[in-house]
Amino acid sequence: MTKKILILPGDGIGPEIVAQAEKVLAFLIEERGVKLELEHGLLGGCAVDAAGVPLPEETLAKAKESDAILLGSVGGPKWETIERSLRPERGLLAIRAGLGLFANLRPAVLFPELASASTLRADVVSGLDIMIVRELTGGIYFGEPRGIRELDDGQRQGFNTLVYSESEIERIARVAFESAEKRQGRLCSVDKANVLEATELWREVVTELSKEYPKVELQHMYVDNAAMQLVRDPKQFDVIVTSNLFGDILSDLASMLTGSIGMLPSASLASDGSGMYEPIHGSAPDIANQNVANPLATILSLSMLFRYSLENAEIAVQIEQAVSQVLSDGLRTKDIDAEGMTSVGTDEMGDAVVKALSSIN
Ligand code: NAD
Repeated sequence: MTKKILILPGDGIGPEIVAQAEKVLAFLIEERGVKLELEHGLLGGCAVDAAGVPLPEETLAKAKESDAILLGSVGGPKWETIERSLRPERGLLAIRAGLGLFANLRPAVLFPELASASTLRADVVSGLDIMIVRELTGGIYFGEPRGIRELDDGQRQGFNTLVYSESEIERIARVAFESAEKRQGRLCSVDKANVLEATELWREVVTELSKEYPKVELQHMYVDNAAMQLVRDPKQFDVIVTSNLFGDILSDLASMLTGSIGMLPSASLASDGSGMYEPIHGSAPDIANQNVANPLATILSLSMLFRYSLENAEIAVQIEQAVSQVLSDGLRTKDIDAEGMTSVGTDEMGDAVVKALSSIN
């Protein structure tokens, strides 16, 4: 059956890196006979410019009809000062909410070839393979009331609300337990239950649910300790489950363990298995249109798309092998470059992955 993929290049480096993933898609369609229908749409600053809003209705409608979405990244200085509700990041939050993408899966895997690209010692990070499961449609990023108000004394006060219901906690914890079951069977739930009531409930619900997953060893950790442990001894972790805000921060931290933010993919899943796939980095306006951005996080996001939404693990593995191959061959974009390696641009890296893929049967 033909599967529909919606491609949203976005802003900044988005179009350049997505173009590399599209080369991989074109190869799979033309050379391997994979049945895919590709559509394109606007999200973020480019949508503000073209349609006046960061998430046009047409994009959301196309997204709802798709089996999966591949996104580049959104945002940039051009749109930082426009009305808050029109900012590109609002489009991202709105599409996540509109599609019910509540589970964000962020693997932090160190490719052996990049052990020296990490700022941590190679022995601390080699073999690293963590899955961070971040709640994506709740918590303080969505809680109401929110805003900036004026107090009686004339000064302004910013406020947000951290709120989680039992069902929201249970459904994300379930995704994490199931992921742990398929991996090494260890789950660390990260909260701040000593200070925040919302996360005290988080801890209770996760503990209760653990009775349904007797094979998974559950541990709880405060977020401040988790940040410290991720740098001290990251290999102690298998799966981490946490809230929207803590997950946002910890997954960026984990990304640096692997050498570059340009290497890490992510999947945001809905309960029906459809999902949106994107690199974890932003639109990197500082390097846009220079042919230096690393497209591998986007290509690896495509691999996750095949694994989770198209249920085609074979192609997912082949894409990962192709990425491994180009790294073994010594090809490096600027962010992961090292002495003795071959420096390549965004385009060349995309071509090299397709070439490597064509040699895998
Ligand atoms: P960023 O991730 O865009 O960039 C951080 C640093 O990492 C920069 O030095 C950048 O050059 C580098 N970098 C990022 N991706 C890279 C890649 N593929 N290859 C090589 N280097 C790479 O974060 P930022 O600078 O804080 O944000 C820039 C814009 O992106 C902002 O508008 C922000 O709101 C937006 N943003 C969007 C998303 C998203 O679309 N999901 C996520 C985070 C930030």
